[in-house]
Amino acid sequence: MKLLLKGHDYKYAAEQMLLTLFPGEKPEYTDAESDSSAEISLTEGAEYATAVTKLFREGKRASGSAKVRLSRLTGKLRRDSLLSMAVKLSFYRAAMKLLPEKPAWGALTGIRPGTIMTKLLESGLSEKAAVSEMKRLYFLDGKRASLLLDTSRASIKVKEELEKGDIGIYVGIPFCPTRCAYCSFVSQSVQKSMKLIPPFLDALERELRELGGVVRELGLRPVTVYIGGGTPTTLSPEELTRLIAALREAFDFSHVRDFSVEAGRPDTITAEKLDALRNGGVTRISVNPQSTSDEVLRAIGRSHTAEDFRNAYRLARERFGGEINTDLIAGLPADTPESFAASLREMIALGAENITVHTLSLKKGTAITLGNVKIPGKAEVAQMLETAIEELRGAGYSPYYLYRQKNMSGGFENVGWSKKGRENLYNIVIMEELATIIAAGGGASTKLVDTASGRIERIFDYKYPKEYIEGIEKTLADKDKIRKFYREAENEIQDR
Ligand code: SF4
Repeated sequence: MKLLLKGHDYKYAAEQMLLTLFPGEKPEYTDAESDSSAEISLTEGAEYATAVTKLFREGKRASGSAKVRLSRLTGKLRRDSLLSMAVKLSFYRAAMKLLPEKPAWGALTGIRPGTIMTKLLESGLSEKAAVSEMKRLYFLDGKRASLLLDTSRASIKVKEELEKGDIGIYVGIPFCPTRCAYCSFVSQSVQKSMKLIPPFLDALERELRELGGVVRELGLRPVTVYIGGGTPTTLSPEELTRLIAALREAFDFSHVRDFSVEAGRPDTITAEKLDALRNGGVTRISVNPQSTSDEVLRAIGRSHTAEDFRNAYRLARERFGGEINTDLIAGLPADTPESFAASLREMIALGAENITVHTLSLKKGTAITLGNVKIPGKAEVAQMLETAIEELRGAGYSPYYLYRQKNMSGGFENVGWSKKGRENLYNIVIMEELATIIAAGGGASTKLVDTASGRIERIFDYKYPKEYIEGIEKTLADKDKIRKFYREAENEIQDR
């Protein structure tokens, strides 16, 4: 769609709303109206700043507006945030006159819709008033507003518990047994890259040692640890033991509240690996069926059956003894609301402590998008998620973190559900950006968070095993950026 911005340069706001309202359409900037265009103007009068969107699409026209009182535009940050909001709302209001239905998340854009709810609650609004505000300002439906209320409660609780210097640790293992059809992750299938595992682990141990030194020097305190990927349980039991030993040697684990490992693919789980994880002090693993329909599993290229998942889950309960998360995905090829409901009911009956319900994200370059595979439509995905919300709540689970991604089927969301008191700290900390995450390994990204100023910086590790191994010297040198970040944060405090 062509975008014409007049009297402002809030491109990001316009593009985010375009993505929400007309997924898949790319923005093109122009100064002339065409048969698919949105002209968004912003003007300031004596009392108000007013955004007006004139939308022209498939021969139809519509307009929408939103205004902000000038007296509220105090300071650059606030001014930009309120004017961006007005730009988005005017675009939304115009589009609602032409579109057959409103987006799943109303006028809310971005990957962390919970941050606005959390801010409202922290500003002193009651929960009831915050929910009403979210419905009024962003046209949210009651179910999604209440998902946000629960996840914001979990976030505020963790924020209150965290102390200065608390951090999370992440380790990325970029190997998987085979590649799933919906995956755009950089993981290497071990069939092709088995020989890279030992040198990858050598390099990773060096990075962990380096990071351990920096963390000690800065007085930081790990409180949550997560080994993800890829599929870390692609490693052998001996390699897992070696990795956990290296982690424990590098970092002080005495304040770690949870230690999670992705054992996502049931076809990688063995009794010996579960023993290695338990003996290494891991408290939570993920065993992810995605679906318990064999037809769906075949359609997404998983090399295991639903029965393989059941066996892996049973084995994990017997040998591992800690908490188990299971992931499901709504909207997979060959899935239906009925077969999705059956998968969900099975996870509830198994008693998984955490159940994460993702919505399929249509990523470029995956077998699904490349092959033009038929997937369930928006109404079917909506029905799957309705079932998830109702049945999980009915079984005593609560949503504790939530995020959205680009190009999610139907524009929906990913939600982590938990039994009471079993919420995973790492997921809340990373999603809500409540503390620094120090990360090592393939595709890992360190996120430095200055909680006092809200400043965030990222350091990216190499993605592919080969480049990670070859680039380890640069990766080690990059760690100095962590020291610099904390020095600057300290100086900012002294300057205040
Ligand atoms: S297990 Fe996960 S990371 Fe590995 S190929 Fe499948 S979706 Fe991608």
